[in-house]
Amino acid sequence: MGRHAVVLGGSMGGLLAARALVGHYERVTVVDRDVFPAGPEHRKGVSQGKHFHALLLRGAEVLDRMFPGLVDDFVADGVPRSNFLREATFVLNGQQMVRTDTGASAIQLTRPLLEGTIRSRLASYPGVKVVDGHEVLDPVFDGDRVTGVRTTAGVLDADLVVDALGRGGRSRKWLADHGFPVPAEDSIDIDTMYVSRLVRPKVPYRDKLVLVGPVPGRPTGFAYAAQEGDRWMLTVVGMAGDHPPTDEEGFLAFLRRSAPPEVFESIAAAEPLTELRPHRFPASLRRRYERVRRFPEGLLVFGDAMCSFNPVYGQGMTVAALEAEALRRCLRAGEHDLARRFFRAAAKIIDPVWQLNAGGDLALPEIPGRRPPVTRAVNRYVARLQRVAGHDPVVAKAFVRTIGLLDPPSSMFAPRVLARVVRG
Ligand SMILES: Cc1cc2nc3c(=O)[nH]c(=O)nc-3n(C[C@H](O)[C@H](O)[C@H](O)COP(=O)(O)OP(=O)(O)OC[C@H]3O[C@@H](n4cnc5c(N)ncnc54)[C@H](O)[C@@H]3O)c2cc1C
Repeated sequence: MGRHAVVLGGSMGGLLAARALVGHYERVTVVDRDVFPAGPEHRKGVSQGKHFHALLLRGAEVLDRMFPGLVDDFVADGVPRSNFLREATFVLNGQQMVRTDTGASAIQLTRPLLEGTIRSRLASYPGVKVVDGHEVLDPVFDGDRVTGVRTTAGVLDADLVVDALGRGGRSRKWLADHGFPVPAEDSIDIDTMYVSRLVRPKVPYRDKLVLVGPVPGRPTGFAYAAQEGDRWMLTVVGMAGDHPPTDEEGFLAFLRRSAPPEVFESIAAAEPLTELRPHRFPASLRRRYERVRRFPEGLLVFGDAMCSFNPVYGQGMTVAALEAEALRRCLRAGEHDLARRFFRAAAKIIDPVWQLNAGGDLALPEIPGRRPPVTRAVNRYVARLQRVAGHDPVVAKAFVRTIGLLDPPSSMFAPRVLARVVRG
């Protein structure tokens, strides 16, 4: 195909896009403004990396396909693997899910370890170059085609440029500056705040993961998850402006509102390893690139730059991995009309996930937004399903596999599940 592809942004989105390009372009260059740490350290450009990062069941499966042996290597290096729902406590919509084997296991690791490992695996492919410590300025246009990108390291000529600069990605501005139509933007105002820290429990909690979601009237929850290095990540979340404080006393009082007493006691007795760190997330954003009528050749938009999901559902990295697989399939059919084909394929991945999230967000009366009758009906059904999942393993399994993106949302309505939900 072309000789050189340049990926803007070297976070999970950029790295996975680059992996898809390997083998289709002679050279693949990833540019990021951060200087990448040698080991699994935090870096400024991914400020969310200090917070709980769930790798959904589907995400682990896809990453393992892209980088064979990845999951086993993590586990061999001491990354906890938890069998859902045998070793994980899920309390969703106020209902604890019944213990059962869902036939799936999650790996639980910090974001810097995940990203650092993917980065070094990617860099080992021939033709891949990672240029860190250099800012992306803007793309070079030649008529309706992007032919390269200006960076503080100079101009990089490219047959394909992929914007994976995150939710602040500037493609919309670049399109407007060059006379292209700008995609519409959908958003859901969730006004969410994360406050997190790593801790070392005196006695490890009996499960490897505790997840407590918000309920109507209390839009707060938390994740408490075993990670590599005998550390646990504690992330406390408040939506709709109900934000966790960052002082010790206020933080614990806030956590107590959603934590089951025995979990709270385990956390309160644990040794703090880091400061309390906040992260504000005002809104989920989706840019409808699949709907634009005209788009430059030689440019793609990828990952959070296209859709930045409510982080409480833990889907961003998994969707980026699925987009990478879709990109790979599109590239197999050549470069002709690549952007249109890729944006359509990505929209098919994003649509059900966005709808699943919107449904979850709008089930909370505290979140503003229009609730058409179908949304209200589906939310009533899902609330009932979650109650039934408290005692019915078939229903719990269907639900966990759906939110892990292993199965499509329609599987929550499969006759076998529906009958049990209706019967209660
Ligand atoms: C609080 C929080 C919690 C989350 N939790 C989860 C979770 O549990 N599970 C999950 O799957 N996802 C989660 N996500 C989402 C996940 O982090 C992203 O989906 C994932 O990082 C992919 O995003 P990206 O690579 O497209 O963009 P980003 O991660 O935002 O990366 C953008 C990259 O571009 C670089 N960059 C930006 N501007 C420039 C420039 N001008 N020049 C050069 N480089 C530049 C940055 O340094 C960075 O490396 C969470 C997000 C947040 C905010």
